[in-house]
Amino acid sequence: TSASTRSTAEWQAADAAHFLHPFTDFQALARKGSRVIAKADNLYLWDSEGHKLFDAMSGLWCVNVGYGQKSLVDAAARQMLELPFYNAFFQTTTPPAVELAELLAEVAPPGFQHVFFSGSGSEGNDTVVRMVRRYWELQGQPGRDVIISRWNAYHGSTMAGASLGGMKYMHAQGGLPIPGITHIDQPYWIEHGRGMDRADFGKLAASWLEQKILEVGPDKVAAFIGEPIQGAGGVIVPPETYWPEIQRICDQYGILLVSDEVICGFGRTGQWFGCQTVGSRPDLITFAKGVTSGYVPLGGVLVGERVAKALIEQGGEFEHGYTYSGHPVACAVALANIKLIREQGLVEHVRDDVGPYLAAKFEALRDHPLIGDTQTCGLMGAMLLAKAKTSAAGGPELFDPALEVGMVCRSHCFANGLVMRAVGDRMIIAPPLVITRAQVDELMGLIHRCLDLTV
Ligand code: PLP
Repeated sequence: TSASTRSTAEWQAADAAHFLHPFTDFQALARKGSRVIAKADNLYLWDSEGHKLFDAMSGLWCVNVGYGQKSLVDAAARQMLELPFYNAFFQTTTPPAVELAELLAEVAPPGFQHVFFSGSGSEGNDTVVRMVRRYWELQGQPGRDVIISRWNAYHGSTMAGASLGGMKYMHAQGGLPIPGITHIDQPYWIEHGRGMDRADFGKLAASWLEQKILEVGPDKVAAFIGEPIQGAGGVIVPPETYWPEIQRICDQYGILLVSDEVICGFGRTGQWFGCQTVGSRPDLITFAKGVTSGYVPLGGVLVGERVAKALIEQGGEFEHGYTYSGHPVACAVALANIKLIREQGLVEHVRDDVGPYLAAKFEALRDHPLIGDTQTCGLMGAMLLAKAKTSAAGGPELFDPALEVGMVCRSHCFANGLVMRAVGDRMIIAPPLVITRAQVDELMGLIHRCLDLTV
């Protein structure tokens, strides 16, 4: 359906009349009217009025190869004609699902030879909950079922995903969290570590995991789950001391480590997976988004040797799966997407070229009067809007949250052709991996303009 078949006002009216949007205040949206995104190419979007936007968020952190990649489109069309759907239940399989499972085993960190497919990241994390608890049942320890996660984490919106997540506003609705999930604080220096040396803070934040394990009882803890770098929580890059210490604690107590790589996977941090960037050795890896660059939905869990061995050799039937586990069209698109990432060397492009280039530009941004701190990792970046660069408590002086400075900045971005997200007063970006240095310069120009308007 082309946007030009109706006027923008007609689209907005029909939208408000019928479409319940995710994470949206329906009345507020109806009053304001949605912005209708009509088409896209490379890093750019166009709305129904013909305005061009620089998409510094890769859609919703997913369009890693950028828009308009014909090889992905062709792969989908070819597969739809050949075999649009068949399931992987009841001892059947399909060639694209097999080939993708094989290719994922190649690009995954060492020790990951198996994959369980889902339709999304949330479902992938539901699978994680089932799988880690099944693992411990198979070890003869069914009481070992508690999963530790972190406050302000986002792990999806299903019952299990939202429970693993640590968004308190989500827990406030609909009876969350489900039993057996508990949270520790996130390694966010600005919130919890002011006045401390950052490396010491990393170790302190990791020690909260050990404290929680001891509080729950080491024989009751099944797993710890975390994103290498928290994305939707505000691109929180932990101190380098954090993940090695988390790994040491997981090893010491024998608990499974789950790396949620729905955002960090497929090149975003300058390695294929974020755990390789932060130096952790997870047992399970949740993925989605970048696996198909968002062209079609697909997610899943990469299953490391320890869990795979138990499931395969001891487990009998694993009573779990989705109609779309291994969907042939989604898998065909993922194959084309991963081939493109490889052929174009996009992971290396992020690691060696545009990632460091963006990091230098973000460091320079700290001179802007409105910026209190910046962080980047690969092509994830955050800038903290602050009232002053220093405060008595250590670190920058923050704005009164009631002023909603982040939302003010975001509306300037949206009006000036830039899609950048606000998480509180953290402005965050995650542009497509195909971004060039010239486009980083273009992005920085837009960011400066929007910051100047917000001051
Ligand atoms: N995990 C992380 C880290 C995410 O960022 C997201 C989505 O943003 C999810 C899980 C949920 O994925 P989905 O929206 O595909 O269900």
